[in-house]
This record gives sequence, C-alpha cells and structure tokens, in this order.
Amino acid sequence: MAIQRKTRKELDKMRIAGRVVHKVLAHCKEICKPGVTTLELDESAYEVFTAQGAKGLFKNYPTYKPGEGFPSNLCISVNEVVVHGIAGDRVTEDGDIVGFDCGVNVDGWCGDSATTVMVGNVSPEVRKLCETTEEILMTAIQNIKPGRKWSQVARLMQNIAEREGYGVVRDFVGHGIGQTMHEDPKVPNFVSRDLLMNDIELREGIVLAIEPMCNLGTGKVRTLADGWTIVTLDNKPAAHYEHTVAVTANGAEILTDGN
Ligand code: MG
Ligand code: MG
Repeated sequence: MAIQRKTRKELDKMRIAGRVVHKVLAHCKEICKPGVTTLELDESAYEVFTAQGAKGLFKNYPTYKPGEGFPSNLCISVNEVVVHGIAGDRVTEDGDIVGFDCGVNVDGWCGDSATTVMVGNVSPEVRKLCETTEEILMTAIQNIKPGRKWSQVARLMQNIAEREGYGVVRDFVGHGIGQTMHEDPKVPNFVSRDLLMNDIELREGIVLAIEPMCNLGTGKVRTLADGWTIVTLDNKPAAHYEHTVAVTANGAEILTDGN
C-alpha cells in the first residue's frame, strides 16, 4: 500500500477543487427548504460546480453492475439514509436532516466534502446528533500531527460518538484523495484490530478525506434494492460530515473550508 504525499503546489491545486465543493455545499444549505425535492437540489448543485469548470466525481461512479453507475451528481441522504442517497422525488420536510456529499475534479485534482443540513425545526436529539458528528470531524482535524498514528485520532472520534451513545457506522470509512477520489489509505472513524495492525503514520503531505458517520440508534446499516442507498437498520436518523484535509508540518489544513 503506497500512500502518496502531495507537494505544496499540489495542495494548492487541491484547494481549488476544495473551494468549488465548499461553494456547492454552501449553495445546497441555502436552498434546502421544506418543499424542495432532492432532484431539484441535485440539479441546482450541478449548475454551481459546472459554472466553476469542475467535473462531478459521483455521477456514473462505477458499480459492480456494468453500465449502472451512480445516477446523481451529489449524494443526497435524508434522515435514515446514511450515505449514497440518490436524488429523486423525495420532498424535503420541516424537521428533516439532509446530508449533502459533493466531490469534484478541477484540472486533474479532487476535493470531497459533506455536510448535514438541518431543515426547519429539527428535534433537539437529532440536532445534537448533527452537532456532535461535526464536532467529531473537527476534533479529528485538530488532533492531526505528523508522527501521530491515525488510530490515535480514530480513538478520539470513536470516544465522542460512544460517549453520546451513537451508533458508529463501520461499513464505510474515509479515504486518501488526490488525483483520484479514492486513494490509499482507508481512514476509519473507529479503532479496529485491522487498523492497529496496519496503522497509518501521519506524515506531511498526506491528504485524507475524513468523514465520520453517526447514527442515532444502531450503527448497523443495509443497502436498498437500488444497490446504492445506505440506510440505518432501525430507520433512525444518521449524520455525516466530511472534509478533505492535508497533513502539514504543524498540524492539518482543511482544503474544503472555502478559504
Ligand atoms: Mg464525500
Ligand atoms: Mg469521501
């Protein structure tokens, strides 16, 4: 497993893609109101990144069935949908939480980020789920340092989720990112025997897409018949946040924060 490290120049190119992703997510947050369909949200997001000269990374993303790639521009995951939600005629309602995951390529370099938007009057427990999942992401980023092992960071992430009694999704993890969206290493949000045996030493220039997923109930998930949509096994809501993050000499730099 070869983890590629990026130069300062390459990180600057990734930041350009990251800025587009940030712009798309800010736009989605703005227009995600009760009554809008996920298809309308997806099409509007497409216009934003296309106007920036970016190519979406998700549409037609290959699956095990030849010719049947991912059908939407973004992954739009409402309430019990954890990740990989397909845009369609689902109407956003007051109290929903809507996860937007966007990945684009600009001039050969990728950015990948996700946020969960709270629509109108979200219940306090679901609001806390969202806020805590974002806190987990930010805690991970703040604890990145060259020389540290990823398992030390993943431990902190898992601890916060478990302190709140949330289900930690184990079937999906973060990933390295660069000229392609999914590069080595795999970046779990929890500590496993596998991670401890194949730990990642954080080194300057490594770029990771860190993406904690927390469920209000069980961490177990299942895939719908469409072959993509991942839902919680108990149909309770799930939150998902993601940033593309570079390891730097002093810590970490978020490439998808719009700066
Ligand atoms: Mg993503
Ligand atoms: Mg990702």
